[in-house]
Amino acid sequence: MAPSVALERVRLRVRGVVQGVGFRPFVHRLAARHELTGFVLNDAEGVTIEAQGAASSLREFAAAIVAEAPALARVDELVTSPCPVHPEAGFSIRASGHATAGRQTLIPPDAATCDDCLRELFDSGDRRYRYPFINCTNCGPRFTIVTAVPYDRPSTTMAGFPLCAACRREYEDPADRRFHAEPTACPDCGPRLSLPLEQAAGLLHDGGILAVKGLGGYHLACDATDEEAVARLRARKFREEKPLAVMTADPGSLAVLSSAETALLEGVARPIVLVPRRDDAPLARSVAPGSPWLGLLLPYTPLHHLLCHDVGRPLVMTSGNRSDEPIAIDDEDARHRLAGIADAFLSHDRPIHRRCEDSVVRAAFPLRRSRGHVPRALRLPVAAPIAFVAAGAELKSTFCVARGTEAFLSPHLGDLDSEAAFRAFRTDLSLYLDMLGVEPAAVACDLHPEYLATKWALEQELPLVEVQHHHAHAAACLAEHGETGEALAVVLDGTGFGTDGTLWGGEVFRCDLAAFERVAHLEAVPLPGGEAAIREPWRLAASYLERAGRPVPFERWPLVRESLKVNAPSTSGAGRLFDAAAALLGVRERVSYEGQAAIELEHLAGAVPAPAYECRVAGGVIFGADLVGRAHDDLAAGRPREEIAAAFHEGVAAAFAAACSEAAGSGTVVLSGGCFQNLRLLGSLRERLETAGFRVLSHRLVPPNDGGVSYGQAAVAATRLSQCA
Ligand SMILES: [Zn+2]
Ligand SMILES: [Zn+2]
Repeated sequence: MAPSVALERVRLRVRGVVQGVGFRPFVHRLAARHELTGFVLNDAEGVTIEAQGAASSLREFAAAIVAEAPALARVDELVTSPCPVHPEAGFSIRASGHATAGRQTLIPPDAATCDDCLRELFDSGDRRYRYPFINCTNCGPRFTIVTAVPYDRPSTTMAGFPLCAACRREYEDPADRRFHAEPTACPDCGPRLSLPLEQAAGLLHDGGILAVKGLGGYHLACDATDEEAVARLRARKFREEKPLAVMTADPGSLAVLSSAETALLEGVARPIVLVPRRDDAPLARSVAPGSPWLGLLLPYTPLHHLLCHDVGRPLVMTSGNRSDEPIAIDDEDARHRLAGIADAFLSHDRPIHRRCEDSVVRAAFPLRRSRGHVPRALRLPVAAPIAFVAAGAELKSTFCVARGTEAFLSPHLGDLDSEAAFRAFRTDLSLYLDMLGVEPAAVACDLHPEYLATKWALEQELPLVEVQHHHAHAAACLAEHGETGEALAVVLDGTGFGTDGTLWGGEVFRCDLAAFERVAHLEAVPLPGGEAAIREPWRLAASYLERAGRPVPFERWPLVRESLKVNAPSTSGAGRLFDAAAALLGVRERVSYEGQAAIELEHLAGAVPAPAYECRVAGGVIFGADLVGRAHDDLAAGRPREEIAAAFHEGVAAAFAAACSEAAGSGTVVLSGGCFQNLRLLGSLRERLETAGFRVLSHRLVPPNDGGVSYGQAAVAATRLSQCA
């Protein structure tokens, strides 16, 4: 640089997802471009840079750090302060500073194999040709292998694999795309498979079931075109009918994809995406029995790419567990738990440190926010004055750790209704707290006394913030949109504990992040037999038909009716209203997984046009039995079931839109709860509310189902705690 230019020096502190994403070499290149001297290093707060040069170069440099950050990075904060100029030559990358209190650095999510690595994987001239653990600074395992912060190789489960000379050269060369790629490895120095790939592919080809060690846990895989293999997997896994995810490198051959769906499938998070199946999709019937939808995902690890390539057929790729238990991550545990299911194990010696299931997306919202997203923080619109844990709900369980304006939603844990699941909850929570350096000073939980998460919260001997289940749903939607003001909320859900001890779930609230008022709700009906009624939707049909003054056609009803006297809590759950309609239409009298009847009713309705059934709404009560009564009468008159299902969906949407209009003339309405996984219901209610002049917000970042409840609890608790602070 010209000697006449006055030198300045600044210190830049960068916070966000800035470690393990190629940030330091990126800064190094930028410094060279702007002719700056100084250094960059990782520390427990993020990345610290000191740079010296001309004032204008320093300004451009700082702007470029934000504007040109690497693909996997996210800059949340960049603070610049001046410091004294001193003589210096060159720009260096320094060793990490020591961990200090209050770990602010975010570990990046796991990322799908990048195109550069894929090219090398299938290039017979490359030294990593067909190496199943190839990765670089732009891709590979992160969250699932990091054991401590700051993120460096010794703080990952790759610590036991010393780099060979060739890998070390790449790792230490700022110009190389593997510069400080912490999990980098090669066939000479890296992890190895426990089974030759030819053997694994051969087994799949011959209809076998293979346990495959993935990024965040074990999967069970089989040939998705082989009916016998898929049926055997279902039988061994005790999974009767719930659709199985299919991994394929050629999704277009199985599904009709929109450009948005293709973008989701190909995104770096690589979730399972629910997409409409092609009629001619060459898949076994048992993959998704009776469903017009398929859960597809693309290969996301080099091992997946090799398997898909070598087998040459779509593969069922489902969580390595029995029914809804937490996914197995430990090799010995997996061998033990999956022994009766898998015919062989395709394992390897790179340990998984953190459990992380696949994410699931439908349309533009997540059904499960997990791999590829965690541990990225969500924002809280009101900062938590103290750090705390929100324990979540029971089904599709997650927890959430709140720190300032950051909410760290956990990966999907599964249903928290067994000892194994509860153990996983406690293990994963302590790993999360450790990763974040958080010592919780309060706990938020559901009102339901029987949830294991609530029981855990009560044992903590910390200040407790109890959050009503559907208020948590509403708050989750408000919070992800940054709303702090008052709004209406339509929460349509299965069943959750109300403040009056009954089971709620078809609610219109006037609420904000701190409090709610129940302004309308579905008329409560008896839930005959309690929990049994949730597995046997015909009981709900009987309950609703009786309320509607119609005859009840089910033979077992007189017997069950007797039981009402001893075991019939009442419920206003919208999920149960959908169950009733589904059972009445003969869609399903019994279910093998939560929400099944309602999902199949949505399939039946499809896009069939139908005017809404009328449903009385008066004084804050929505008489859902009217809808079931009308469905009964139309069925008796021989109207096609598809039309009845469609008119029922429209009727529910029209009734809740009317309830909102009765409660307020205009304003914002948030939509949440498990029923809004139903696209027909979501679309119809949104349109009706917007026509009536409301601004409508629905989920984009967290699931509308109970997987989003812990984030909602966190938003409520942060607000309430800040009000009393
Ligand atoms: Zn890569
Ligand atoms: Zn090597």
